Amino acid sequence: MSEIILSNITKSYGSHLAIPGLDLEIPKGSFVTLLGPSGCGKTTTLRMIAGLEHPASGEIRLAGKSVYSGDTGSFVPPEKRGLGFIFQSYALWPNMKVDRNITLALSEAKIPTQTVKTRLAEALSKVQLTGLEGRYPSELSGGQQQRVAVARLIAARNSILLMDEPLSNLDAKLRTEMRTELKRLHRELDATTVYVTHDQVEALTMSDIIVVMRDGLIQQQGSPYEIYHNPANLFVAEFIGDPKINLFQGEVTKSGADFAVSIHGLNVPSRRGFEAPQGPVTVGVRPEDIEIHHEPVAHALAAEVDFVQPTGSQTLISLIVKGQRVTALIPRFEMSLPTKNVWITLPVDRLTLFDASGNRIAP
Ligand code: ATP
Repeated sequence: MSEIILSNITKSYGSHLAIPGLDLEIPKGSFVTLLGPSGCGKTTTLRMIAGLEHPASGEIRLAGKSVYSGDTGSFVPPEKRGLGFIFQSYALWPNMKVDRNITLALSEAKIPTQTVKTRLAEALSKVQLTGLEGRYPSELSGGQQQRVAVARLIAARNSILLMDEPLSNLDAKLRTEMRTELKRLHRELDATTVYVTHDQVEALTMSDIIVVMRDGLIQQQGSPYEIYHNPANLFVAEFIGDPKINLFQGEVTKSGADFAVSIHGLNVPSRRGFEAPQGPVTVGVRPEDIEIHHEPVAHALAAEVDFVQPTGSQTLISLIVKGQRVTALIPRFEMSLPTKNVWITLPVDRLTLFDASGNRIAP
């Protein structure tokens, strides 16, 4: 069942059409990430779900109820939508201690004092802040302030959580820790979560579903695996993956059971049938799928090693193949390779083919 439904939503800022027509369904209990480059409309979409931004037309339904309809002009204000949010600035009240920051909304909602106390204790314990409830936000570290904001969400028990780049002010180590905490929060609360980020690692590590956006339009919606391995088009293929996917200009020479594609004059033979129209294609190969050989093998392209960069558990190898830079990633620490001249092979079952307009045609 879909907990959040956006139907043909549009939004303009002055003459700028930021969202030209968005259809999005978010299943109950899922962790969905809106991902895309700056200005693609992620925040605008989230703010329209929250009721902080008024769409121009379309309909928004939350938990089976219409909260906005362009046809009737109805609009439910944010505080009546039953949502929890956490934004980039955690929006803690500086003049209130941690406990009050967490429980303010509960007291205002006239929840009995004893229940508020129980929920406060539980929320503090979940984010490991028990004992710090008497401090002001200014007496806490950035990470602790973040956790107060998370505790406020836990205490409120909303069935929908909206998060806009909540980790962007944190240092790298805290970001990694908080990713795990937010994921745990999602699992424990079982709340439908919409998360906005331009950070693909956050999207890949936390999401059940990733929605990749560009210029207010959805490019692809799918599991992290689908987005990474079966990108819908070149934009998604290049946006996801670090280091970036390698792209080659190629030509399909045979289709069907004896499929073959030629890249830089090299015929990459088929290991299994593959249907694709004959003619020019763009061939995508992820860096970890490039196979490096130290002597010539069949169906290999000659390559020159330009530089070798170990990153700890992996090593990035930058190669030049017929004048084109190609990146390979090997799953171990190497300071250098034994020779400057190597050969690469491209495993046919790891290739992704795109047509002239950039849409994936196979597999
Ligand atoms: P970022 O990652 O930089 O936050 P985003 O994907 O969240 O980007 P939005 O903030 O939703 O993008 O913006 C979508 C488009 O709408 C952009 O072109 C932006 O310049 C424009 N926009 C957003 N808010 C306003 C506003 N208040 N007034 C005018 N234009 C706006």
